[in-house]
Amino acid sequence: MVTPRSGDGSDEANDDAAHGARDAAFDDLDSGVLVVGAGPAGSAAAAALARLGVPVTLVDRRSFPREKICGDGISPLALEGLARLGFDLGRFSTRGDMPRCDFVSPAGRVWRAHYPRLESAARGGATIDHGFVIARHEFDHALLQHARACGARIVERCRYRSIASDGAGWRVELSIGDEPVTLRPAAIIAADGEHSTLRRDLSGGARRDEEWLAVRAYLRSLREPVPQMSFHFTRDVLPGYGWIFPADPDTDGPRANVGVYFRYSRLAQSGHSPKELFRRFVSPLIEATDGVLRGAELETTPQGYPITPYDPRRRLVFRNALLAGDAAGVADPLTGEGIGPAIRSGELAAAAAARFVHTREPADLLRYPLELKDTLNATRRRGLFLLYLLERQSWLVDRLFERADGDRRLADRVFRVLSGDLPLRRIFRPSVFLRIYWPARRL
Ligand SMILES: Cc1cc2nc3c(=O)[nH]c(=O)nc-3n(C[C@H](O)[C@H](O)[C@H](O)COP(=O)(O)OP(=O)(O)OC[C@H]3O[C@@H](n4cnc5c(N)ncnc54)[C@H](O)[C@@H]3O)c2cc1C
Repeated sequence: MVTPRSGDGSDEANDDAAHGARDAAFDDLDSGVLVVGAGPAGSAAAAALARLGVPVTLVDRRSFPREKICGDGISPLALEGLARLGFDLGRFSTRGDMPRCDFVSPAGRVWRAHYPRLESAARGGATIDHGFVIARHEFDHALLQHARACGARIVERCRYRSIASDGAGWRVELSIGDEPVTLRPAAIIAADGEHSTLRRDLSGGARRDEEWLAVRAYLRSLREPVPQMSFHFTRDVLPGYGWIFPADPDTDGPRANVGVYFRYSRLAQSGHSPKELFRRFVSPLIEATDGVLRGAELETTPQGYPITPYDPRRRLVFRNALLAGDAAGVADPLTGEGIGPAIRSGELAAAAAARFVHTREPADLLRYPLELKDTLNATRRRGLFLLYLLERQSWLVDRLFERADGDRRLADRVFRVLSGDLPLRRIFRPSVFLRIYWPARRL
């Protein structure tokens, strides 16, 4: 339902046409879903709802393509989520496919890893054997266009303003420029990111559990292209890490996306600001006489924001409104990866909202957090355990990386555990410990 506009009375034909198209974008929402925020969570939710035949409108305060602070890394599990939505990054693949990545241990041991082959149910049993890098302005725009192609209605430059209780559901106030829009959708998916105002209004306060932070910048004028993604578990940011990912070249040559992911507590312990922690990672690599970043220049100032790891105790359903993506706090605690979990939470929130639109049974919405827990909790638990090892037993990580570098079978297993594809117990076996200490033994 759309309330009458508070217009200025102008009756120009093109104004009317624009308003007509805009109002049409909000038609049927009393039996459909409003999705707020067109990052990976919101676009995934909108695409999934449209594919299920549910009327859906996706709004974002920005116009696309838009910039987004990120490492620009897409994991194999995120690629699997995209495949489930019928979205393929193939057309970008000459630049983006990453079959290898390096892990550097706290003592500097390098494990030159190959992505293991993950069986892709979404690709009919084909395998996914690579990660991906793609600038977020390009990725988010492409996913938004995919949602549109699936049948979602998209309204850009449309800002969420406020929400108020209205019978059994919510009345939502949006604005497009100065023009207010009032809606009473059957269901709402809040995917408006880490600083979600919708979450704050629904839950009645700011989230207080910001535990991690990531900061990144682009570097330019590299002497050679960055050949693969690399993850550096340097002591300054343990149990977090620094990363170097390739980025699109410009006229001055190759570029890189470089950043650090660390606990807030690192700031108090080290006495450094986030930017100083970033510089302590990057400067030695730029000043070195060898290595891929030697002589590179900072193209942008380091920028970042908090990352909220998944916690199943957090409330995600507020009557007919569901939180998804960063607004819900679903990141992998070990890696800070947020795109794959955002896509997954968007899909699951969409499935719950689609059921609810038909049945109007609150129980259909309440299944969403349980389904999300089934999907993300094992990864969270393995993440918390590996963070403990990195922080307290980093010698074991050194040994593991050293062994994995020369042992493809061990490497595949460890990598699949790291990426959440295999449960932790698959490396915590006596046979694997023996393998780490006695390399000749078979797994
Ligand atoms: C430095 C850094 C590096 C990172 N690197 C990686 C990485 O390499 N790989 C990875 O997987 N994850 C990475 N992440 C995490 C990842 O960026 C996020 O988890 C991911 O973007 C979450 O997607 P989302 O859709 O939930 O939110 P977002 O992508 O933040 O999208 C939210 C959308 O909501 C819109 N919005 C906000 N407020 C309103 C409003 N009031 N009205 C309307 N629209 C609104 C915004 O304009 C935005 O488009 C990184 C994070 C940081 C900080």
